[in-house]
Amino acid sequence: RVVIVGSYVQDLAFYVEAFPGPGDCVLAELRPGAGGKGFNQAVAATRAGAPTLFVGAIGQDSAGAHAREFARRNGVQTEFILKKKEPTGAASIAVNHAGQNQIMVALGANLALHVRDLPVRPLAAADVVLCQAESDMKTAAHVLRVARRHGAVTVFNPAPMHPGVDLAILRHVEVLIPNEAEFVSLVNRSPRSGVKNFTVEALHRLAPDRLHTLCRSFNVPIVIVTLGARGCFVSQPDVYARVQAHEVDPVDTAGAGDAFVGGFAAGLVKFNKNIIEAVHFANAVAALAVTQHGTAPAMPTAREIARFLRR
Ligand code: ADP
Repeated sequence: RVVIVGSYVQDLAFYVEAFPGPGDCVLAELRPGAGGKGFNQAVAATRAGAPTLFVGAIGQDSAGAHAREFARRNGVQTEFILKKKEPTGAASIAVNHAGQNQIMVALGANLALHVRDLPVRPLAAADVVLCQAESDMKTAAHVLRVARRHGAVTVFNPAPMHPGVDLAILRHVEVLIPNEAEFVSLVNRSPRSGVKNFTVEALHRLAPDRLHTLCRSFNVPIVIVTLGARGCFVSQPDVYARVQAHEVDPVDTAGAGDAFVGGFAAGLVKFNKNIIEAVHFANAVAALAVTQHGTAPAMPTAREIARFLRR
């Protein structure tokens, strides 16, 4: 099965006409919801049909109670959603009339998930183990190291990229899945890439063989760069491939990356660890997710995915 060790965050999305400037106060429409990259990915993997264990931390507050309730309703096991004295993680998301967003995240209890909290047996027995960068990075590195030692496929989604992400974690990673901005940041920070001042524009201009060479510089077996509506780029030791996104009418692309990563983890289990089949499955999961509002609530079910792929 899939084990996801990661974040739960209560999203508070404020819809405004225009973002407030310093000292301003503007009226907004509020849409609260369950979120956090780890949790969104766990919902995506569960709904996509993979038995999934989510390991995370919440506070002893109403947001934490809501987290457990939402998890239960969505078939996500709650046994390892641990209660901490710190408050449940929260995100303030402002969305303006143009659909642009500004996000502030306070990770709270997520940072209190320590190595000693980890369920030893489920981790050792997992087929696929997945972490992101919204947790304590020492805990994440430990999880990936132990999982790899026990033969699981270790997947790391370096989101969000922040100075606390030590690139030494890549040693324990078998599949690295950054989006464009995260990939650019990884390239600029890695001394092995030989590139500085890399940008998203430069990434778009890059020939596939050059992109493959940059992916190889991380010394991670498989690198999958998600490229939004352009699909993704898959770099394996000796081959690379570009996979186009599905043509859909997107209504909300927030959480597309989480749908892709969670869908990929589920796909690995479903297709016996075949990378390319898992990528195609993830591509369909993410395409369906962008046709719905929200993040966790937008994740498609196994039946919806199968129907979509049969079109
Ligand atoms: P993030 O949400 O982390 O920025 P991306 O924007 O790269 O991630 O999107 C992740 C995946 O979601 C893409 O690789 C693609 O499969 C899918 N996706 C994103 N936007 C669209 C879109 N407009 N149409 C179809 N698929 C999309």
